[in-house]
Amino acid sequence: MELKTDALLLRTTDYGENDKMVTLFTAERGKIGVAMKGVKKAGAKLRFAAQPFCFAEYVLAERGGRYTVTAASLHDGFYPLREDVERYYAAACVCETCDALLLDGIVNPTLLVRAVSALKEMEGASAPFALVKFLLSALTAAGYPVSAGDCPACGNKLGEKLYFDLSSGSFFCGECAVGTPASPSTLSLIRLAMGEKGEMTADGVRRALKMLRAYLVYQTEEKFSILGEYIKTL
Ligand SMILES: [Zn+2]
Repeated sequence: MELKTDALLLRTTDYGENDKMVTLFTAERGKIGVAMKGVKKAGAKLRFAAQPFCFAEYVLAERGGRYTVTAASLHDGFYPLREDVERYYAAACVCETCDALLLDGIVNPTLLVRAVSALKEMEGASAPFALVKFLLSALTAAGYPVSAGDCPACGNKLGEKLYFDLSSGSFFCGECAVGTPASPSTLSLIRLAMGEKGEMTADGVRRALKMLRAYLVYQTEEKFSILGEYIKTL
């Protein structure tokens, strides 16, 4: 059976002398493992389709539940992301997040669209801020939205003293004090990333990414080690 699907390459593993096993985030079947034969050879026709962040229409042959790529036509290779270490790691965090949020059998085309637009944005704009925006939208698409409005317990506006609760994904005021202490710079940055009024500071970006990572780890029980390393470089 043949399947034609738009997909983003999330990660690759070397396999045999010339082959790779790749994890594709497909629009139609969610996350699947796929064999790519001969792609490590110089001049291989499908070499481009086994590169990090490749977004393409993949043609897959299915046999007994195993997939092999037989053809691919490129939508976007996001080449500028491969030429800049900071952007490369931010993009790798996007792929790591999709990988962790997509359990087997989960189909989430909205998340795919958001991942591809985040990669596009990272080519030009501030990569760390684009990553914050992506993580917020990915969390929403996966059913773990972050809430940064008024305090959900008492309804008061959030002030200088505030808390973030990992189980509900909400900020709380200093009086209600649910969760662990958070900084106003984090809240301000998160609000800005949500398209509301807020302020961007380097400290706010770093803290927001740290908090979002803690929230992702809490919700998925995955490690998010690439994101952890990336935050250390900021
Ligand atoms: Zn409160």
